[in-house]
Amino acid sequence: MKIITDIITEGKGKRVYATENPDEAIVYYKDEAIAFHGLKRGRIIGKGEINNRICEYMFTLLSQQGVPNHFIGRVDERSSLVRRVTIIPVVVKVRNIVAGSLARRTGYPEGTRLNNTVIEYCLKDTELDDPLVNLTHITAMGLATAEEIRAMESMAVRVNDILTEVLREISIELIDFKLEFGRFHGEILVSDEISPDTCRFWDASTHEPLDIDRFRRDLGDVAGAYREVLHRLTGYAYQTNEEEP
Ligand code: UDP
Repeated sequence: MKIITDIITEGKGKRVYATENPDEAIVYYKDEAIAFHGLKRGRIIGKGEINNRICEYMFTLLSQQGVPNHFIGRVDERSSLVRRVTIIPVVVKVRNIVAGSLARRTGYPEGTRLNNTVIEYCLKDTELDDPLVNLTHITAMGLATAEEIRAMESMAVRVNDILTEVLREISIELIDFKLEFGRFHGEILVSDEISPDTCRFWDASTHEPLDIDRFRRDLGDVAGAYREVLHRLTGYAYQTNEEEP
């Protein structure tokens, strides 16, 4: 039993609590969904429990494949124990197929396969909508060192390879995703979450999104898509008595 002390931070989909151990934190996953700078808010029934289990699966897989990450273990239905890292204020986006902001920025149609994997860096700043920055910005502004950037990039590529492969086996295409990294006693760990809130997953045969885009774009059956991803990944059939709207 971990003793929770304070809330360290609260974001769109999670609340992070400090514990009596300064090296550990508890992540609590919420059902709340927020998009477009908070202009669109809603609740996806069961999302917190589903994302907690999807993250458990994803981070355990990464650990098995030798990718250092913050996950220690699932505590209960909605929370997990993680290493308490200091988040590097650079969001790393990895893209295999054009979607979202890349389509908006370049005019390339969504769904276009990229000739090579694209890695983008963004300043982690919600007020500024996480603006795109390049490697010289990152070092110039002291956000991360060149060595840290190299470590983040090679881990991001490894994560992409591992997830693409595992998802392909369950007929899900990994379109893109974002990662956050944390510093922990001189090491860099993949942190934050890897879930349908932070990745674009398309069904390989129908090309239907199975992720947060269903909420952002009002595509319906948002909770069903999250349940489907969890079920295909782990075989776990999440059930709730709550009525869906
Ligand atoms: N993403 C995220 N949080 C954000 C912004 C983006 O998890 O605040 C994820 C998003 O779900 C997608 C990837 O990062 O899997 C690339 O997102 P994009 O830049 O296309 O931005 P979006 O279209 O989501 O605004």
